[in-house]
Amino acid sequence: MNPEDFQIVELGDPRLRAIAKPVELTQLSSALEQAAVMQHWMEHRGGVGIAAPQIGVPLQLMIIASRPNNRYPNAPHMAPLLMINPEPVSFSDNEVTLWEGCLSVPGIRGKVTRPESVCVRFVDRAGVTQEQVLTGFPARIFLHEYDHLIGKTFVDRVASVQDLTTDKVYFEQIANA
Ligand SMILES: [Zn+2]
Repeated sequence: MNPEDFQIVELGDPRLRAIAKPVELTQLSSALEQAAVMQHWMEHRGGVGIAAPQIGVPLQLMIIASRPNNRYPNAPHMAPLLMINPEPVSFSDNEVTLWEGCLSVPGIRGKVTRPESVCVRFVDRAGVTQEQVLTGFPARIFLHEYDHLIGKTFVDRVASVQDLTTDKVYFEQIANA
């Protein structure tokens, strides 16, 4: 699969509103090829996560890959984690409000309130079911990417349009405030 045959799907494209289908585990090797394309685009565009609908593939596949870069200078390091058929199992009661961006919503950030921790179940790249508790930024990435699998983006999660800003204003006025 050539990554250049795919591109990042952007807000307004109906493919971002579709509900992703579960990966058939008999098709694991093809899902891994799609994941490699996702990882290419995530790294190429400076993302810390990506979901398959963002490259126009309607499958329940996501990668979370927190690491510092110029879009997220304070992100913690983690090895990219591919999650197949992920689902949240339970959430923490406490919630945090953070600014999010999205490769599918270029140039815009939104302030979104989400649970601080989430227990997730997923199938890993070896086909084994895993359960893991994510806290802080990795939990945030998971919840953001999971939204892509159910046809939502962070724009649907802001409390008000007042909670939207541009990257330029974010970095000039908000990030270091
Ligand atoms: Zn996104």
